[in-house]
Amino acid sequence: MDVIVIGGGIAGVATAYQLRAAGHRVCVVERHATVAQGATYGHGGTVLPTPLDVWFGPTFMASRQNARNGVISKTGFNGAARQFVKQLSALQEPQAFARQYGRLRPLIEASRDALADVEMRFGLEFEQASGLLYLVRTEHEWQQTQAALDLLRQYEVPHHLLSPAECAAYEHSVRPEPAFAGGVLFDQERTANCPLFAKLIKQTLDTQGGVQFMLGCEVSAIRLEGQRASVELAPRPGAARSREVDVIHADALVVAAGHGSLALLERVGLRLPLHPLRLHTLVAPVAHEECAPHVAIVDAVKRIGISRMNHRLRIAGGAVLQGAGQIDKPLGEAVTTEALALLGQATHDWIPGAARISAALPWEGVKLLSPDGLPVIGNALHPRLFVNTGHGPAGWGLACGAGKLVADLISGQPPALPDDTLAALRADRFQ
Ligand SMILES: Cc1cc2nc3c(=O)[nH]c(=O)nc-3n(C[C@H](O)[C@H](O)[C@H](O)COP(=O)(O)OP(=O)(O)OC[C@H]3O[C@@H](n4cnc5c(N)ncnc54)[C@H](O)[C@@H]3O)c2cc1C
Repeated sequence: MDVIVIGGGIAGVATAYQLRAAGHRVCVVERHATVAQGATYGHGGTVLPTPLDVWFGPTFMASRQNARNGVISKTGFNGAARQFVKQLSALQEPQAFARQYGRLRPLIEASRDALADVEMRFGLEFEQASGLLYLVRTEHEWQQTQAALDLLRQYEVPHHLLSPAECAAYEHSVRPEPAFAGGVLFDQERTANCPLFAKLIKQTLDTQGGVQFMLGCEVSAIRLEGQRASVELAPRPGAARSREVDVIHADALVVAAGHGSLALLERVGLRLPLHPLRLHTLVAPVAHEECAPHVAIVDAVKRIGISRMNHRLRIAGGAVLQGAGQIDKPLGEAVTTEALALLGQATHDWIPGAARISAALPWEGVKLLSPDGLPVIGNALHPRLFVNTGHGPAGWGLACGAGKLVADLISGQPPALPDDTLAALRADRFQ
């Protein structure tokens, strides 16, 4: 089949790879001049999510204080945003959290397998590093993480619970003082460079053939007609005006346009209740080599990740919750400063002396979060339309499994995921 993928982020590139592997001809349409320029560019490094990473559950936004929960609520967010927070809060209840994580888990494992398969075939190097150490500040927060620790035991996820002294002994850059509650070490989980991986996959596909990348092209609309799906392309800036709209036709269409997916889908009548969340990164040079961590450090409650990539530290988090209508407007200096301060403070608290924050490069991007914490992957609205978006904090790790699922569905192959997971990912679950 001929398949159009809208979006050249990690979701679109991984989907294109899996479609090509399944024998389809693929065209990726991306509005930027190259791939991996959206949320993918700002990733925090963590590859696959554990129950401590997902953006739902007892610890997520458990406190109303920005400085404590790591999420800044911008004043004036509207009724829809409040409703979104309310829905997500329902998953703080341990049983609801366990049920939802149980639905996500098969996709995590499928993604692990799909990524391993790509690595085995092409031997790609994308700054993979093993080891993630999650740190928890207070006894109260440690109690709140118990539901996640129960899930680690239930699913036999390899991990070690460490006292503060053991954390410091394992990772020399972490100090046992001032006192904190403890840590969870995942020595087999990994961090890696997501945009680099996306670019390497593009290069591989360029060499193999069968996937065309239309870069610098923006899709202005989707058309769904009979057995065909098409996209209309916006005129390129500076191009001579023409009355004719550029249209490309295909047998199937995958919307993997990150935050841009919402507007495209809404115009064909599919309104997804996903909420855009702005996130920040600081990329800081290592200040003192002897203070720099050799595993990634994650502030488990504030969801701030600090991963080392060569001679720099990538610090990601500082989410800002605001009304969806405000997302295209500048955030405002005060809120940006507050978000970046959260990142700087977490780095100083956990690994003092490791990063030169004053020389760090800031970045901000938007990721889509769903009110039930799970992405939207599957067929939607029309037999030829497929969606792959809303991966929230886990788009890097889930990309290969999500792409495989979309490729299986388009190819008419039964996906290797349980029915309740497939139902929990589908767009029509919100109806
Ligand atoms: C700061 C930060 C830290 C993160 N940390 C992690 C992490 O540690 N681990 C993890 O797994 N995930 C992490 N994530 C989430 C992860 O980065 C995202 O889930 C993932 O990158 C989403 O990929 P995507 O391809 O769906 O979206 P994007 O990367 O945003 O790609 C969408 C693409 O579609 C294009 N597009 C949009 N509309 C159109 C249109 N109309 N026409 C043509 N092209 C269009 C855009 O230009 C863009 O390139 C983080 C995200 C952020 C922002």
